[in-house]
Amino acid sequence: STADHPDLLADLNDAQRDAVTHTGGPLLVVAGAGSGKTRVLTRRIAYLLAERGVHQGQIMAITFTNKAAAEMRDRVGELVGVRSNTMWVSTFHSMCVRLLRREARTAGLGSNFSIYDADDSKRLLTLVARDLDLNTKRYTPRTLAGQISNLKNELVDHEDAASKASNELERKVAEVYAEYQRRLQLANALDFDDLIMRTVHLLQAFPEVTEYYRRRFRHVLVDEYQDTNHAQYTLVRELVGTGTSPSGVEPAELCVVGDADQSIYAFRGATIRNIEEFERDFPQARTIMLEQNYRSTQTILSAANAVISRNPNRRDKRLWSDLGAGDSIVGYVADSEHDEAAFVAGEIDALADSGEADYSDVAVFYRTNNQSRVFEEIFIRLGLPYRVVGGVRFYERREVRDALAYLRVLANPEDTVSLRRILNVPKRGIGERAEAAVAHHAERERLSFSAALRAAADGRIADLNPRAQRNIAAFVALLDELGERVERGDDVADVLEAVLERTGYRDGLAESDDPQDATRLDNLTELVTVAREFTESAAPAEDAGAGDELDEEPALPAGSLAAFLERVSLVADADSLPAPDGGDAEDTGQAADSGMVTLMTVHTAKGLEYPVVFGTGMEDGIFPHMRALGEEAELAEERRLAYVAVTRAQRRLYLSRALTRTAWGQPMSNPASRFLTEIPSELVEWRRSAPSADSFGGSGAPRAATTWAGSGQGSGKAGPVRGTASTGWKDAVPMKLDVGDRVSHDKYGLGTVVATEGTGPRATATIDFGASGQLKLMLIGSVPMTKL
Ligand code: ATP
Ligand code: MG
Repeated sequence: STADHPDLLADLNDAQRDAVTHTGGPLLVVAGAGSGKTRVLTRRIAYLLAERGVHQGQIMAITFTNKAAAEMRDRVGELVGVRSNTMWVSTFHSMCVRLLRREARTAGLGSNFSIYDADDSKRLLTLVARDLDLNTKRYTPRTLAGQISNLKNELVDHEDAASKASNELERKVAEVYAEYQRRLQLANALDFDDLIMRTVHLLQAFPEVTEYYRRRFRHVLVDEYQDTNHAQYTLVRELVGTGTSPSGVEPAELCVVGDADQSIYAFRGATIRNIEEFERDFPQARTIMLEQNYRSTQTILSAANAVISRNPNRRDKRLWSDLGAGDSIVGYVADSEHDEAAFVAGEIDALADSGEADYSDVAVFYRTNNQSRVFEEIFIRLGLPYRVVGGVRFYERREVRDALAYLRVLANPEDTVSLRRILNVPKRGIGERAEAAVAHHAERERLSFSAALRAAADGRIADLNPRAQRNIAAFVALLDELGERVERGDDVADVLEAVLERTGYRDGLAESDDPQDATRLDNLTELVTVAREFTESAAPAEDAGAGDELDEEPALPAGSLAAFLERVSLVADADSLPAPDGGDAEDTGQAADSGMVTLMTVHTAKGLEYPVVFGTGMEDGIFPHMRALGEEAELAEERRLAYVAVTRAQRRLYLSRALTRTAWGQPMSNPASRFLTEIPSELVEWRRSAPSADSFGGSGAPRAATTWAGSGQGSGKAGPVRGTASTGWKDAVPMKLDVGDRVSHDKYGLGTVVATEGTGPRATATIDFGASGQLKLMLIGSVPMTKL
């Protein structure tokens, strides 16, 4: 009763309180950054449990990252205690895995299915493209992966894709898509996009399944709603229902919170469309706006508003703060990226010395991961404690992936991508020829690769040389031996140890002279630790709601190898956790970062807040990204990203840029970021880089510096701005391009030539504009493109 929870509503404003206590139809909370959307969502859950008699098993809360899910669970835990433990608080992906495991049979899956991440998908696509005799220079696995992912995010299956294809590229993609799905099915594997799409298809095809979940989840809550894509939106709609079901189940209560200005995943198919769809599909929905920002000073908010207000087609919001004007924003123009990093490090030190901020109060943001290196170097040199979120992630390291591939094969022998990965790793004399013979046999006999491998071991493949056959037989025997350990229920860590021992993987590294191999050994040891912690955390603990029908046991046996692999694949997802995460929620919250400066990309910073924020690399061509220059939709997304960056700051915001920097392998002089110049000058106190203070004279440094950079363009204007790469930039001069050349296109940004054809005015080049996932065939002489 309210008496037990007097403060659930006390520290909320009226609009927030309305949102927390709203009962009945769907609720959409749209509001700017820092206005308490996440607080409303968490508080609403607590309120449902404490005041409305809702059982935790009836709640499904969806967040964008596992980190956010862990934080939310923590926050709810603080409010209502251990009852939060058995609640479904997860990302879309985790939620779908859980649901698909329970419904595996209905969904036509083995319940031990593997989850393929981006790298696994690309490996499989490479195999598919090769087998379909595609020109892999032209259709790179990356392009194919991007195209297939887009289709899945739109819930287009391979049959629809084939019937809708209207050009050569689309037809090829559809063909690859069909074969890729066939192989995934054979391997009993799903890629990340499948997790969502298969769940949607399941719910749409089996009303009784949908009915079960609708009965069960009476409350669905979604944070960061602006970043859900069409497939995810449809999933939510299926779960909630838009009307009373035939057997009388009313739609669940739905509460989504988001901010269209913070939609930063358009490249993954998220569109503001989902807010429009919401209003269309749920016409009776109530919308609540929040206008008070509790996070940032007015100065920081004004800067954020100045930047975002330039985006076209947005609903204007009046966001205000009563935290006072606070400190000015500090602007800094560095000579180089090294100078910028030195400035940042110096300021952090000074803040720490004066007691103004702890290291853990500080975050350094950059646009792309590779920018972290310069900061890391200087932080290490100065002994400044830091951690990088993202970057080369633990679970992406080769040795970690190799070890996990062994475990995956043991858990799911049909996992072809993993099986082929480890076939000759470490080297055991099963070469490419032997692998091809096995693959060929599989294809001819319509067998899985693993079945064909067993045929090879038994000498049933004629065109295999005896030595390869012996080696395959030994390999199969080794897998069987390791498999027995799994069967008899050894701890995951023990199985992993056995893998590293029995395959000779560990000895191979230990005997190597390559210093990198020492690091690899450390990483494997770390992985064993992760596995140990996993086993310990899986040991049965006292259960808050034991015996309750809604507290079901997990779909996978706790502590099992499959459960471990599932945890690992999901952690390795969008989150980019800095270090292996044993799964303990407390390890993933911001509280665990104590004593360290956090370095991360702006994308990763979504939803977080820090007393002190450094926004670095504020240059046109860096942030906004080169690719977005002159491309209206992409520029609008970069602007939203800038808005996200600025609104993470609570008390102090630094914005810096460098006059020269090495980017894309070239020294470049970039003009000031247009976002920087849009911030009203009275909000910024400019400091400069000492050595070249003379170069710009007077105040208003950013403009002066723009001129200095010699781009000859006002930095505030839209349209393509050319950086001045040292090689010089020229317009559309006929040029000779070779495979591997890097080019910059006014519209598509940076690309790599993957094929060329013809000569003279008819010469064409196929160019992979990687990041945007686009492959283009171009007449070299007639496009606004420059060779770098
Ligand atoms: P974002 O758009 O960045 O995700 P948000 O809208 O989710 O932001 P929250 O993170 O929920 O905002 O809240 C921002 C900060 O303001 C948090 O520190 C939160 O605790 C605080 N806050 C929110 N509402 C109130 C309130 N009514 N009183 C005091 N503090 C509040
Ligand atoms: Mg939030």
